[in-house]
Amino acid sequence: MKIYLDNSATTKPYQEVVEEMKAALTEDFYNPSSIYDGGVDISRKIEGYRSLIADTLGCKPKELLFTSGGTESINTAIFSLKNSRKKHIITSMAEHSATLEAMKKMEKLSFEVTYLKPSKDGSIKPEQVLDALREDTCLISLMAVNNELGSVTDVIGIAKQVKKKQDVLIHVDAVQAYLKQPLKLYDKVIDFLSISAHKIHGPKGVGVLYHNEEALLLPLIVGGGQEGGQRSGTLNTPGIYGMGKAIELFYPDLQNHTEKIRRRKEQLRDKILEEIDFVKVLSPEDGICHILNLSFVGLRGEILLHSLEKEGIYVSTGSACSSKKSYSHVLNALELGREIKEGAIRFSLSEETTEEEIDKVVEALKKNVVTIRRIMKMGKRRNV
Ligand code: PLP
Repeated sequence: MKIYLDNSATTKPYQEVVEEMKAALTEDFYNPSSIYDGGVDISRKIEGYRSLIADTLGCKPKELLFTSGGTESINTAIFSLKNSRKKHIITSMAEHSATLEAMKKMEKLSFEVTYLKPSKDGSIKPEQVLDALREDTCLISLMAVNNELGSVTDVIGIAKQVKKKQDVLIHVDAVQAYLKQPLKLYDKVIDFLSISAHKIHGPKGVGVLYHNEEALLLPLIVGGGQEGGQRSGTLNTPGIYGMGKAIELFYPDLQNHTEKIRRRKEQLRDKILEEIDFVKVLSPEDGICHILNLSFVGLRGEILLHSLEKEGIYVSTGSACSSKKSYSHVLNALELGREIKEGAIRFSLSEETTEEEIDKVVEALKKNVVTIRRIMKMGKRRNV
């Protein structure tokens, strides 16, 4: 039996999601743009799911585009500004690479990008954004929840304060936040928002971009004019069905689910701190419910990861590759010491994580952390 604690990377699709996708592949395989009844019925079902997603976000269905996932949504939002006369963008050093790589391209198009340094808890504070605002700022792009630490940035609060001062477009990467915290767009202060299905027990390769109807969107993909000409390509019916079904299952009981995940996360954290010495909690106390980043000081995260893997436990490491001495850009941005970055492990939970699994993980950690620390210490002594 595997214990899967890497739900920030991806989640296991619900069985009902798989069934719904199977129906899309076997029965509802018609082109949703076709005008015969098979196609029309599928299109109606897709529009039903679009309305459901709009309800969860507090926006209009026509403000949502189906995309191939978080990365495409983020790219579409950012590149929509490429013809802007104003040439300054604000983002943070702790964004996902989908944002950071898009920013590099914008820099090549002669935009100037300000990368805000996250505060100690990994979030971005309103004053930082307000201080960085310039007359020529055209876009602010920030993540609502950091995927490595779980830090929460009050993107709606920031957007409200910014819009009071200046008319700037605001994009929110809500990939880790969607269905994990309340996120409503009623007051229209957010212009673009990106979400991804595979983080919420839906399939990979499908997501949504919200675009405020007043914000100009430049299509990234052109062709047959689907999605009102804003995102061409035959709609990914199985993906959309799967995403819609996942939301339909999770959303009505949102609060119970997220409370349950938070309880499990706190149990895991408390038991580890009780049982194992020299552990530093990197995730903030008020972070999102599903992400817990801990540093097991005195060992290398990836060694611990592989020893847990041998026991059927899947987690993720903050340091990309210690042999190349390259650490996570998020941990680097926080200017943590080498030992802390090296020992970082991210546990990310889902509502399917059980108490029994938590106990097994703590037992496995107790054993492996002590062994690895001892071996690493011996290695160091030998090298002296
Ligand atoms: N943004 C964040 C915060 C993420 O965690 C991820 C995925 O890990 C993405 C964007 C990219 O989403 P996708 O995998 O759907 O392209």
